Amino acid sequence: MNAQTEFERAAGGKLRARGIEVVQANVGLVCNQSCSHCHQKAGPGRREIMSPEVMAGVTALAGALRPRYVDITGGAPELAPRLKDFIVALGDAGHAVTVRTNLTVLTTAACADFPEFYAARGVKLVASLPCYLEENVDAMRGPGAYAASIEALIRLNALGYGRAPGLKLDLVYNPLAAALPPGQKALEADYRRELAARWGIAFNNLLCLANVPLGRFLDGLRRTGEEAAYRRLLRESFNPGALANLMCLTQVIVGHDGRIYDCDFNLALNLPVNHGAPANVLAPGLDALATREVVTGAHCFACSAGQGSSCAGALCGA
Ligand code: SF4
Ligand code: SF4
Repeated sequence: MNAQTEFERAAGGKLRARGIEVVQANVGLVCNQSCSHCHQKAGPGRREIMSPEVMAGVTALAGALRPRYVDITGGAPELAPRLKDFIVALGDAGHAVTVRTNLTVLTTAACADFPEFYAARGVKLVASLPCYLEENVDAMRGPGAYAASIEALIRLNALGYGRAPGLKLDLVYNPLAAALPPGQKALEADYRRELAARWGIAFNNLLCLANVPLGRFLDGLRRTGEEAAYRRLLRESFNPGALANLMCLTQVIVGHDGRIYDCDFNLALNLPVNHGAPANVLAPGLDALATREVVTGAHCFACSAGQGSSCAGALCGA
C-alpha cells in the first residue's frame, strides 16, 4: 500500500475542496532563524523570494476567489522586499490580511518599522512562540530567540495588538519533542497566565500545531531514531472527527514562484495542486481550484492526529 492510499483509506476516500475561504501566500524561504522544527528548512541562506509579478497574481487570485482573508507566510515574510506593497495592494482591494511573523525579525534594524506598519493597516498577526519558557524557545529557535520574541510582543501590545479589537494577535505553539500537542484550551490558559505574570503580555488566541515530519523536523527525527515511532503515533492517533475541518479543504497556498499547492506542507514536498489546469497563479483555469481533489500523502496524518492541526490551530475537541 503506498502512503497516499493509506491516508485516503483512513479518511474513507479522496479529499475534495469545498470552496476557498483562505488564500495563503508563501512569500519566500529566507528567514533570520533556522528553527529545529522548520518543515520548510527556511533560513538566512535561502534565496527564494516572491516577485512583484507573483504578488500581483496572488492579489488577482484573491480578487477572483474572494476568500475571508489572505494569509501571508514564509520564511520570515518581513524579509521579502516587497511585502509592504503587497499588503497595501491587498488591503486596497478589500482583503483582510494575516501575516505569520516569527517575532524575532521585528527586533532587527531592517524590520523595526513593521509593527507600526502592521498596526496602521489593521493586519492580523499570528506569531510563533513555542513555549512561555525561555529554555524551550531557545532550544527550538536558537539562543536569544525568547528574549527577542518577548521584546517584540511587548512592543506589539503597546501598539494595541492583543488588546484593541481591530488588532488581533494569536500565538502559535508546537511541540519541542516528537509528541502531539496538548489540549489547546488548557495550554492557552497556561500561556495567558504565565505571559501575563512574567511580562504583562496579552494575546488573543493560542493555536496548537502538530509538527509535520518534513524538513528540519524530519532530519531531527532521523538523527534521534524517532521517525518510525513518530509516524506510528500520528497514524495511531488518527481522528476521523478532524477530517471535515482539514485546512486543505478550504484553502490554497501560492509559493514564491507562483506555483499553487493545497497547503504549505505540500509546498515543502513540491506537490502542486492537481486540478486539471496549470498549477500557477499566473495561468488560466484557476476557478477549478475551489472543487479540486486534494493531493495527500503520509504527512497528512499529522493534520488528522488527536485534536487535529492546521494553520488555524486545533480542528476539534481542543
Ligand atoms: S519555523 Fe518559521 S521562524 Fe523558524 S526557520 Fe522556519 S520559517 Fe523561520
Ligand atoms: S498535509 Fe496538507 S493536504 Fe495533507 S491533510 Fe494536511 S492540509 Fe491537507
